[in-house]
Amino acid sequence: MTGHARVECFKTVTKESGGLVAVHIFFPEDLRDLITRSLVGDREAAMLVPLVRQGAKQIRSAPRKTPALCGCCPRPIRTNFALAIILPERSDPSQGFAIGLCAKCTEDDKNRAHQKAAEALRGVWPGAQSIVVTHPGGGHA
Ligand SMILES: [Zn+2]
Repeated sequence: MTGHARVECFKTVTKESGGLVAVHIFFPEDLRDLITRSLVGDREAAMLVPLVRQGAKQIRSAPRKTPALCGCCPRPIRTNFALAIILPERSDPSQGFAIGLCAKCTEDDKNRAHQKAAEALRGVWPGAQSIVVTHPGGGHA
């Protein structure tokens, strides 16, 4: 995503959300579960799948010279990363965006990843007034 496209994206999300957004954290191994949920009719999952896929694809296919960077620190990310998907907190958001987080920042820990995503979000998007942390799937039994 270019800087300009990102700003437009923030604008749409800000307009739809009034600054209130939901943050979903996904590690690569969560995608299968998410797809399963979308296939059984989970609307939220169905909305998240393309964002996760697109975000992961953008990071993995970034040119070597200009790799994707972690949302929280200057480290380049390519393979081992978590994705924070930001969606307006409403029932029918039309747009969302993804922030990549490096393994050092998340330490494979969802709560830590949420914290880091919130930090990254405040850094890049001053329009975010309030951030709702959501835990898709909840605790696995
Ligand atoms: Zn990082």
